[in-house]
Amino acid sequence: AFNANVAAAQSALNAFIVATPEKAIEAAKAVDAARSAGQALGPMAGVPIGMKDLFATEGVQTTAASRMLECFVPHYESTVSRKLWEAGAGMLGKLNLDQFAMGSSNESSYFGNVISPWQRRGSNAQLTPGGSSGGSSAAIAARLAPAATGTDTGGSIRQPAAYTGTVGIKPTYGRCSRWGVVAYASSLDQAGSMARDVTDCSIMLEAMAGFDPKDSTSLDLAVPAWTASLSGDLKGKKVGIPREYRVDGMPAEVDAIWEQGIAWAKDAGAEVVEVSLPHTKYALAAYYIIAPAEASSNLARYDGVRYGLRDLPDGAGLQDMYAATRAAGFGDEVKRRILIGTYVLSAGFYDAYYTQAQKVRTLISQDFAKAFEQVDVLLTPTAPSAAFALGENVDDPLSMYLNDVFTVPASLAGLPAMSVPAGLDAQGLPLGLQIIGRPLDEQGVLNAGL
Ligand code: GLN
Repeated sequence: AFNANVAAAQSALNAFIVATPEKAIEAAKAVDAARSAGQALGPMAGVPIGMKDLFATEGVQTTAASRMLECFVPHYESTVSRKLWEAGAGMLGKLNLDQFAMGSSNESSYFGNVISPWQRRGSNAQLTPGGSSGGSSAAIAARLAPAATGTDTGGSIRQPAAYTGTVGIKPTYGRCSRWGVVAYASSLDQAGSMARDVTDCSIMLEAMAGFDPKDSTSLDLAVPAWTASLSGDLKGKKVGIPREYRVDGMPAEVDAIWEQGIAWAKDAGAEVVEVSLPHTKYALAAYYIIAPAEASSNLARYDGVRYGLRDLPDGAGLQDMYAATRAAGFGDEVKRRILIGTYVLSAGFYDAYYTQAQKVRTLISQDFAKAFEQVDVLLTPTAPSAAFALGENVDDPLSMYLNDVFTVPASLAGLPAMSVPAGLDAQGLPLGLQIIGRPLDEQGVLNAGL
């Protein structure tokens, strides 16, 4: 049934880059086989999921939604996807995304943007499902997949979840292996789960997480039994409301949803207190220096020799091949990030931008550490507005980047954070609330979201 839905919705939503119905069927058949053999079933047995096309999948094209990798078929499997298959899941297909996960709307995909299944009341304007995990969020919202993987560098799991009325969690940096995930900004990239509710996200994250010696930043810690310990009872817990997240120009409806979230937390037994994260206003600027800096370095590997596209004009030398390949393979947003990144890392500007941004990053981590001396979790809106229309921000990178204002601070600090659906705005579009937790306290985040 899911395979049929994926095929039927493709022309309307463009959520998948490639469908792999046979893989989903294979997993379903394995359940039958295991049952008749009396074998135990894995925690994801038979569950058909969507795989963001940033995870390397053996024998299945892995494009990062870029022309650069259009014909790239890995001969290895990412650790996260391998763990999901070992838990019994099956793959419906590879999900569309912003090119190299750079973007907030899915409009930078080489394969065309994803279209949200949501529309404003009384309007048929096409909306973004968010980004960069927009194929994942659209597929779940449209019921094409019960769950999907996402990756989150500065909000790419949480913002698409908020825009589509779905749930998405980014665990603590280092919980999920980055091995086999196409790199964007390595000190920030983290895989996570997306689904219709908190419990499904928890089950899937448990299957994805865990130590991997092949990723030097992987945390050598056992994965807690999050799902077995889920509880919506917040008695004795303190929920912090960071005052700096009350930004000017935030729509009254976003504020109202936040108030609703505060009321829910109190109903569940929590004490709600205001806290201060004084360096919040510098987070976006620091992020848009650090992430492009790392990206410019990571993307140096696409040189026409080792992976994917090679553009070798007649009579061209090595330098010409590099230039032609990168000019043809990368989209505009990717080129913009590489330019920003090489600029802030250049000898003349390194201290003024990159070093400064790293100092801000430390201050932001310290802000959170201080707040978490007082409270167990933080509650904020996920994004400053509901989903915007396709095309609305596409020529204005700065307003696009501003969408990430509430999600990047937790990314810079490596903290677990989740978006849960919290209601609809006046036009009938979903709004999300973000819960940020202490390092390694995914349980606290999941429980508060439940
Ligand atoms: N929108 C942010 C960016 O473009 C975040 C993307 C992400 O988390 N992958 O960098």
